[in-house]
Amino acid sequence: MSISTAGLALACFAAGLVLLPMLRIGGIAIGHAVVRPRLRRRLAEASRGSLVLTYDDGPSTRMQTAIVELLRTRGATATFYLLESRAEGQRERVDELVRDGHEIATHSFGHLDAYRVAAKTACADLCNGLAVCAAAGRRAQRFRPPCGRVTVATYLAARNLGLSFDLWTHDSGDTFSTCPSVEEVVRAVDSAGGGVVLLHSHDRETNRADAEAHTLAVTAALLDLAAQRGFAVRRMCDLAEAAASRGTRRP
Ligand SMILES: [Zn+2]
Repeated sequence: MSISTAGLALACFAAGLVLLPMLRIGGIAIGHAVVRPRLRRRLAEASRGSLVLTYDDGPSTRMQTAIVELLRTRGATATFYLLESRAEGQRERVDELVRDGHEIATHSFGHLDAYRVAAKTACADLCNGLAVCAAAGRRAQRFRPPCGRVTVATYLAARNLGLSFDLWTHDSGDTFSTCPSVEEVVRAVDSAGGGVVLLHSHDRETNRADAEAHTLAVTAALLDLAAQRGFAVRRMCDLAEAAASRGTRRP
């Protein structure tokens, strides 16, 4: 029995309808359950003895000024994962970060959640972000996926573009509906012997002054902790360099 060309095309179409969603769901499942824990473990090992402050979603108007001033007075530098749709129109704020010695990395263009959009849409969001970097004469070397979502497609896309794929070890909780206590965050970093902390540098609604205050209070308290415990305050690029010089795997 021979299969007609039309029949074959129909069979391929039907297989695609079944296979593509399966590949997508499989890619999310493997990214979340296998790749993500491995990345976090590696990051926890690499950041022992260090404090890395990371700020997502900027540049912002109100928050960035307060954060930068605080870091400046404490002689600390951090890594800022910029949302390129915001960076596009705020070049002077990006320049301010560079002038102060902070590391600039990318957080995509439009902050699309890779678990909620098609793989090609999430990858396109990453590429669109890189296009904004390139247009501004910046070369991003690190990528933090929006919401910390890890899928096989976005992970491979970032790696193929030569970017490191950065998560965090501790969440400051500054985007939670109720922020945890500052002491709770400090205790967690202390008991882990250091870590990479997720904070945010974006202007929130005026009724979230508590969250903005929390970002600043956690920053100050963690810098106090680092001074007490002798943790090196590093940017993500410094952490990668330190790992390379020790001959251990880069986070
Ligand atoms: Zn974000």
